[in-house]
Amino acid sequence: MPKIYLGPAGVPHSAKKRNTIEGIKTVKELGLNAMEVEFVQGVKMSPESAEEAGKVALELGVRLSVHAPYFINLCSEDKEKVEASKKRILDTADRAERMNADAIAIHIAFYGKKSPDECYQIVKAELGEVVDTARSMGIKNVKFGVETMAKETAFGTLDEVISISKEIKGVIPYIDWAHTFARQGGQIDYGEIIDRLVRELNLSHINSHFESLVFRNGKYIDEHLPIDNNTPPFEPLAKEIMKRDISITLICESPELERDALKMKKVLEDLGYKF
Ligand SMILES: [Zn+2]
Repeated sequence: MPKIYLGPAGVPHSAKKRNTIEGIKTVKELGLNAMEVEFVQGVKMSPESAEEAGKVALELGVRLSVHAPYFINLCSEDKEKVEASKKRILDTADRAERMNADAIAIHIAFYGKKSPDECYQIVKAELGEVVDTARSMGIKNVKFGVETMAKETAFGTLDEVISISKEIKGVIPYIDWAHTFARQGGQIDYGEIIDRLVRELNLSHINSHFESLVFRNGKYIDEHLPIDNNTPPFEPLAKEIMKRDISITLICESPELERDALKMKKVLEDLGYKF
């Protein structure tokens, strides 16, 4: 049997107050067991608040992960932007560690004028430095997740995130199933991806996002939709997970946060999984 952690990207819509602790409690009440804390507009949580949230999550058995700010680009031409990006990653990792979150999701870079290979070398050097700094600051457990990206202009093909994870200890692929589906022209072999992660990286846990994407002008673009759009479909992923003895977090990034997370839960339960 797999071990599955399922929950929303951020505080559920139905939470009575818009804060992380209330979000964690609501996740538990809904019968879910994971939540991603969203720092997408910046790291505004104090270290103390992170520790409090971590205590509540631990008590309630809710697995936390954290999404780093969108304003990160390790391949920027502007040196100041690179330094600001590194600081944002470090601040995210610090709060995540205090929350006992297992991983952070990062949109790591855009190629810009550089070739994908040049950008790869820069990401490798800069992210390597960030991880070293984090470890020296006492951030020992959090994994640095480089997210798979939909846009052709962004660092984040499946091959790139697997490769960088082989090269830097503490870095993992953060699989956004829909982004990868889009990046691969609207196709995806879920089982093959899971098997690659286990075979090539020996991952004991997979961190991932799930949502549907908009199809426009002949291609899938990075605008998130409810999962009943089936772009990509969830059930085949659920089946591939159920076939394997793996541990996985599925964070629902649909606009219908908890409603769709609960639909995903139902699909898994119908296949025989017991939460
Ligand atoms: Zn993301």
